Amino acid sequence: MKVRACLFLVLAACAAPLGSGAGQAAGEAGRTRVVYEPPRKAAYRGIYREMRDHRVLERVAAIVGLVRLPTRLTYRLKECAGELNAWYAPENRSVTVCYELLDSIVQAAPRARSPAGVTRQEAIRGPVFQILLHESSHALFDLLDVPILGREEDAADQVASLILLHLSPADARMVVAGGGYYFATAAKDEPVDKGAFADVHGLSWQRFYNLACMAYGSDRSRYRTIVSKGYLPKERADGCGEEYEQVAFAFRKLIGPHLRVRPVGGDRLRRAFRSAFKS
Ligand SMILES: [Zn+2]
Repeated sequence: MKVRACLFLVLAACAAPLGSGAGQAAGEAGRTRVVYEPPRKAAYRGIYREMRDHRVLERVAAIVGLVRLPTRLTYRLKECAGELNAWYAPENRSVTVCYELLDSIVQAAPRARSPAGVTRQEAIRGPVFQILLHESSHALFDLLDVPILGREEDAADQVASLILLHLSPADARMVVAGGGYYFATAAKDEPVDKGAFADVHGLSWQRFYNLACMAYGSDRSRYRTIVSKGYLPKERADGCGEEYEQVAFAFRKLIGPHLRVRPVGGDRLRRAFRSAFKS
């Protein structure tokens, strides 16, 4: 099974009618819309209910809604004819996540707990939020005309990590542990050939280490076990504080002016992200 975390695909507008789960994200996140298309495949009905009942798209939309968007952004859960994928489409300003991708995440999760101690819940919820925030980052780059130095896929991962690390300690741990598990699992089936090096995405192990570095760089004390247990080499870890600050600086400079929250770098932003995520 090849798990592809994201493809930044340029697809034609989705012509499917709105599902019964269509709705507006509430309050200040007024320029976002969420659509849960009910799946035809019976095996995906559990995912549909879980996503809808836990208001997963609304919670991500609420975080992105802290940014003043120039246009409406739609989040859509749908079946994709067997494709394991998620993407942002600039033509219709929508983030789409496929049941097939979510199902692959569920299938890859441990029954109870992985040997490294990642719970089943973390292994499922972590990558779901990581993927949705990664695609949301592509949307922000496009909608806000954010200039990007380096690879857009790396930048999308870094912005997603930055936002997720502003959540509560428990939620942030969920994403770091679950996202790490997801990348490490994907790496097992990933051919490391010339095609992999040519891909716009980093290799899964590179994405794993980038996530681990961002977490450690955000709070060396809270995430010290990432290094002490050997998940991040000391040589890389030494510079992670600077790596994190570099992303935080770019976020403040380029996305900060569009935020409804002031000041951009302080505790208010942290509280705003947490509050939106709990909504
Ligand atoms: Zn991407």
